[in-house]
Amino acid sequence: MMEWLRKFLSGRYFRADELSISLLVLMIILGIAGLAAKVPLLYYISDVLFIVFIFRNYSRNIERRAAENAKFVKVFGPFFRKAAEPFKGLYHRIRDRKTHVYLKCPSCKQTLRLPKGRGKLKVSCPKCKTEFYKTT
Ligand SMILES: [Zn+2]
Repeated sequence: MMEWLRKFLSGRYFRADELSISLLVLMIILGIAGLAAKVPLLYYISDVLFIVFIFRNYSRNIERRAAENAKFVKVFGPFFRKAAEPFKGLYHRIRDRKTHVYLKCPSCKQTLRLPKGRGKLKVSCPKCKTEFYKTT
């Protein structure tokens, strides 16, 4: 039985690549949106995405799947990076929320981190050397 399963799964694509993850995320979003808005078309699309997802994961044509993913990353990569930008450093912001404040340099938009509760601070941007005052 295990031998059969091992044989069945060997040589399959099975990769959590960018395209697979995107398909899965989009599938979940469309599925939930379809149910919430009672628009069957959305969860039909969600089902199709699931079929594509399964097909890609069980595919033995690994080169082809990798090429698909490379193409996907090339086309949508910049878009995803842009979409993820507001969340960059979010982990640190949450972790340091009690001890530090985060702000953007008014001139170059560089993110700066200041200790909290120090009153009025003279801030000098390390990137563009702009100086300004900030009360923390
Ligand atoms: Zn600056």
